[in-house]
Amino acid sequence: MRFKKTIATVVVAIGTALVGTQWYGCTPRRPLDELARLTDRLPHVAPSALPSLPELPASADPTAMVAVPAAPTAMPSASPTTAPSEPAPAASLTVAEVLDRSACSTEVVKGLSEQIIAEEGCLRPSAFQRLPDKLAATTIEDVVFPYLAAPAHEALVAAIESARGEPIKLNSMLRTIAQQYLLFHWYKRGRCHIKLAASPGSSNHQSGLAIDIQQPGRWKNRLSRFGFRWMGAKDKWHFDFVGRDAKEKAAVKRLSEVHAGLDVRAFQRLWNKNYPDESVGESGSFDERTESALRRAPVGGFPQPITCAK
Ligand SMILES: [Zn+2]
Repeated sequence: MRFKKTIATVVVAIGTALVGTQWYGCTPRRPLDELARLTDRLPHVAPSALPSLPELPASADPTAMVAVPAAPTAMPSASPTTAPSEPAPAASLTVAEVLDRSACSTEVVKGLSEQIIAEEGCLRPSAFQRLPDKLAATTIEDVVFPYLAAPAHEALVAAIESARGEPIKLNSMLRTIAQQYLLFHWYKRGRCHIKLAASPGSSNHQSGLAIDIQQPGRWKNRLSRFGFRWMGAKDKWHFDFVGRDAKEKAAVKRLSEVHAGLDVRAFQRLWNKNYPDESVGESGSFDERTESALRRAPVGGFPQPITCAK
């Protein structure tokens, strides 16, 4: 289970940068030397000081949305070997604190994003489907959440199976508000070679209806036959799932409306569970108050466990 990876990877995101921004603005990798410099500045966390997420039971349905266990009720403390003067563990940093000090990878908000996705599963259990683990010639970056909305998932699997071994590398699929917030910030600051990025809350990746792939030239004709629309040279890695025929197109449009803001609402609910005295509206709209909350949210995830109880 990919979620098992510990938050410690926050400082080891070198070379596995999830890039691409949403329908606009997928980005090339950051040069390794620059990544190394950034990594040097990030606080080091001993692996023993960080929690790991438990494996799913063997009987779990790999295609179903699954709830991700929350971070422990207390943030991990520094390991005994950590000197008191060392910086706080990376997982306890807030989103605002990592905006300008992290490498160009959304790995830094993976813990928080896992909780948001799990909460989305509470809000709408059928919202997203997980890509099968073993798809021929398919590579998925570790930092990618391998989920899509059901019709996009079905179409992508069918396209890959029809390609009979043509390699495909998925650089982005489902994305959370925390990830999109980082990508948009980097775009606005001219960082990370992002040419264009959707504002947080408006990306098709957040609705599970978009993918970024490494080999657009080799795949655009095939993906087009399966209902994916290539964004063109301005964002050459990006494909939106729009559907194959008029009936499916209409259904996808309705679905995109249903999914719009789902991750924002999931975040708002998580925030309210953890900070009831500073609650935000659970509208799904990324308003000023929600942005303020997101900036103060811990990148490693909230302390309170996720339950699907209201
Ligand atoms: Zn994209």
